Order: sequence, then C-alpha cells, then structure tokens
Amino acid sequence: MPDAVVVGAGPNGLAAAIQIARAGHSVAVYEANDEVGGGIRSAELTLPGFVHDVCSAIHPMAAVSPFFNGVPLAKHGLEWIQPDAPLAHPLDDGTAVMLERSVDATAARLGADGDSYRGLLSPLVSRWDQLATEILRPVTHIPRHPLLLARFGLHAMRSARGLASAFHGEPARALVAGCAAHSFLPLEHPFTGAFALVFLLTGNAVGWPLPRGGSRRIADALASYLRELGGAITTGHPVQELSDVPTARAYVFDTSPWHLESIAADRLPAGYRRALRRYRRGPGVFKVDYALDGPVPWRAADCLRAGTVHLGGSFEDIAASESAVWRGQHPERPFVLVAQQSLFDRTRAPAGKHTLWAYCHVPNGSTVDMTDRIEAQLERFAPGFRDRVLARSVMNPRDVEHRNANNAGGDISCGSHSGLQLFARPRIAIDPYATPARDIYLCSSATPPGGGVHGMCGYNAARSVLARSLS
Ligand SMILES: Cc1cc2nc3c(=O)[nH]c(=O)nc-3n(C[C@H](O)[C@H](O)[C@H](O)COP(=O)(O)OP(=O)(O)OC[C@H]3O[C@@H](n4cnc5c(N)ncnc54)[C@H](O)[C@@H]3O)c2cc1C
Repeated sequence: MPDAVVVGAGPNGLAAAIQIARAGHSVAVYEANDEVGGGIRSAELTLPGFVHDVCSAIHPMAAVSPFFNGVPLAKHGLEWIQPDAPLAHPLDDGTAVMLERSVDATAARLGADGDSYRGLLSPLVSRWDQLATEILRPVTHIPRHPLLLARFGLHAMRSARGLASAFHGEPARALVAGCAAHSFLPLEHPFTGAFALVFLLTGNAVGWPLPRGGSRRIADALASYLRELGGAITTGHPVQELSDVPTARAYVFDTSPWHLESIAADRLPAGYRRALRRYRRGPGVFKVDYALDGPVPWRAADCLRAGTVHLGGSFEDIAASESAVWRGQHPERPFVLVAQQSLFDRTRAPAGKHTLWAYCHVPNGSTVDMTDRIEAQLERFAPGFRDRVLARSVMNPRDVEHRNANNAGGDISCGSHSGLQLFARPRIAIDPYATPARDIYLCSSATPPGGGVHGMCGYNAARSVLARSLS
C-alpha cells in the first residue's frame, strides 16, 4: 500500500509525486497513456528523423518555477537551450518587433515607446525571483512581498487593451497583444494584461527555453528522478474509479475536474461535485506540425533569432482574431503561435532540414480545418513558406483531446481563464487543491497557477497533501 497514489503523469502529477517522495513517502503514479508526460511529449509526427513536440514547445514558466529550479533534472538528462531571442513578432511592413533577453535591448528597438517599456518592466524584472514566488501560488496566500505584488497587480488587473494604451507605436502594441493572447480571452477582458506582463517579464528575466531533444526529455527527466526517489510509475492504466488504484492514505488527481468528479463520485459531497461540474472549458487549439526543407523564409530576417514567433500582425488584428474565437467563430486571419525549435536544436531534424510547430485558437470542440488559414498567415510574413513544406501533421481539438483527456474539446489550459476561474480554480477556496474528502486532492492545471509547464500546481498540491494527509 503506497502512502500516496497520483492519477496522471503530466508535469503537475510528476511534480506532486516527486515532492511527496522527497518528503520520505512512498508514491505510485498511474497514467492512462502508454508513456508519461501528458502535455510534454515529442514524436516523429511527420517523417522519420523529424522530432515534433506534440504539445508544449517553449518553457518560460519552467524557467521561473521554484519547483523546476529545485530539482536536479540536469543529472537526469535535461538540457535547456536558450534561443538568441525569446520572441519575434513580424509586422506587415517587413520588420519584426523583438522580445530580447533584457529590458534595455527590447526597449532599444521600440523607438519612442522604449522609455514607457522600461518604466513598466524594469522595476518588476529586477525583482522577478520574488515576484515569481508570489504569483505561482494561490491568490489566497499571505504575500511576503506585498508592495511588489501590488505594483504587479495594478498593471496585471488591466485588460491588454488598457495596458497597450501606454504605447503609441504599433510594434509595442502588437508585442503586448501577442503575449496577452496566450490567455485565450478577448483582449478587452480584465487581467489579460497579466498574461502580457508575465510573458514579457519572463522573456526579459530568464528567457523562453526549449529542451534539447524535445519536450519529452522534460518528462523523461522527471520520471527518472521520481524513480530514483523510489516512486513507481504504471503507464497504460486509465483510472475510471477509485478501485482501479491501490488503497492509499492520499489520492492526488492530475486530471480535469470533470474526471475527478466522476472517478471519486461517491466520496465527494453533492455541493462540491456541482462546483466541479460547473467548471468551464476554454477555447480549443488547431495545431499543425511541419517537416521543412529549410528554415522559414521570413521577410524579417530577425525572426530567425527567435525560438517563438507570434503571427497576427497589429494589435487590432490579434484582438479581432481572439474576440471572434470567443464568439464561437473561426477567424479568417487567426493569431498563430509558432515555434522553430530545430533552428537551435540540431537533434530535431536531419541535417539541413527543419521542424515547425504552429497552432491557432478555435472554439472548443471545433472540427473546422484551419490548415489553409494558418498557412496563409505564414505566407503573409514568410512568402514562399509552402514551397518548403515536406510533410505536415494536423491535429484538430478532438485529436488533441484524444491524446490527453485533460484537454477537453482541445482546451490546452484545462479550463477557461475567464472571470474568477483565472484565480479560483476549480472553485473559490483557501486551499484549492484539497477537496472535502480529506484524502482526495486535485493537482492539474485546473488549480492555481493554471496552465503551462511549471509543475507548480503539483508542487503546491503536495504541500497540502503532506500537511493534511501524510503528517
Ligand atoms: C498543443 C499544446 C501546446 C502547448 N504549448 C505549451 C507551451 O509551449 N508551453 C507551456 O508551458 N505549456 C504548453 N502547453 C500546456 C501544457 O502542456 C499544460 O499546461 C501542462 O502539460 C499541464 O500539466 P498537467 O500535469 O496539469 O496536465 P497534463 O500535462 O495534461 O497531464 C495530465 C495527464 O493525466 C493523464 N490522465 C488524465 N486523466 C486520467 C485518468 N483518468 N487516468 C489516468 N491518467 C489520466 C493524461 O493522460 C495526462 O498524461 C501546451 C499544451 C498543448 C496541448
């Protein structure tokens, strides 16, 4: 009988298991898929020798995560690569605005907006370590750096449109829009400014790294460390009811709230089950992975310096795309997130060839084929792109869900960020990881601090497990 059972081996499930094992407890992980990783997996999706990231590609949140910074993953084979620049955002005039590894280098290319950029980012970047420990925890904690958090909060609570109003030129405004659009929300919604700030801050403070060999290397390293700590992992083991796992003192779910509700149905009170059922999905993603005959022929050559490229043009173009998705429509010119890992990691493709990772936002559960619209956006900023395509692999939201039950309808954040759900995941509570059953916990990205590869949902949940069930 293990002390703790973890259901799901995504980054949060593995982080929870590692923290519990590090405290000296036995832990057993059960994963539905045949391999560990959840949202951190890689595969030859197109042609032999081309390694594609099936889900996550770029990892700013891992770079700032107290969990990731506290585990010896380098010893278990994980090597981070920092692209020269975190992000390029090409514009229709053939130039690109660049998010660089420092505030000054970014500001230097923003013309008259450079001073405003420095004024906004410098005070936060210089104390980023302290700020990260505050914002990667539930909002209900007592802050250690209240003034710093308040300074961040004043900007973060604004909409992206409000935040962008500090800038007059299109480059800075477009940069804000692309980073804010990671929220999957219309750019007029409150707190979309928080997404823009966090992505700009991480770019300037720690970079946006990618793992050598593919995202699966993160999962391999986490699993290897967990095994070294004595943890057991069983794959190909979908859990449908509690009797599918051994009896334990604590059960920790790296699943969606809806799956937790159904798996632990007779252990949870009706009110809590209702709250889990009311938890809302966000939009989905439509993803295309490419094998290319050469690098993308960007009009703005600077784009070749960046690991990530935001395609969408101006602030207004991106705002229109995100609000269309929110209204249940499929934008003609979607905002497209692109990663070009093989430019910086030669293990991803045969010599002289390249991979490209791209997705756009679509309504939850959509079955519309967005391939042509994604490629039209690539051609808009890289004429001749299609001529470089050797093969493509396409995933609509249903395919995304099929690969991982946590991504219902293609929602890669395991729940919308709108309204209170940004903070109160899966419901308003002092301890959002604990359930009314004293031995059952939720640790997926449906808990604070939400989506992204940082392991902090699992790390925070493990603290609750250790205090309540394993003390
Ligand atoms: C296409 C895509 C692109 C992304 N890009 C990025 C990116 O570039 N950077 C970034 O930081 N993040 C990115 N993400 C998001 C990131 O992958 C997730 O936020 C992160 O993986 C969430 O971790 P998790 O542990 O909460 O859940 P997941 O990684 O979703 O893992 C949950 C695991 O639980 C398993 N599971 C679920 N139900 C059961 C059950 N009943 N029984 C057994 N096992 C079960 C699943 O199979 C899965 O392995 C992306 C995601 C996708 C899909």
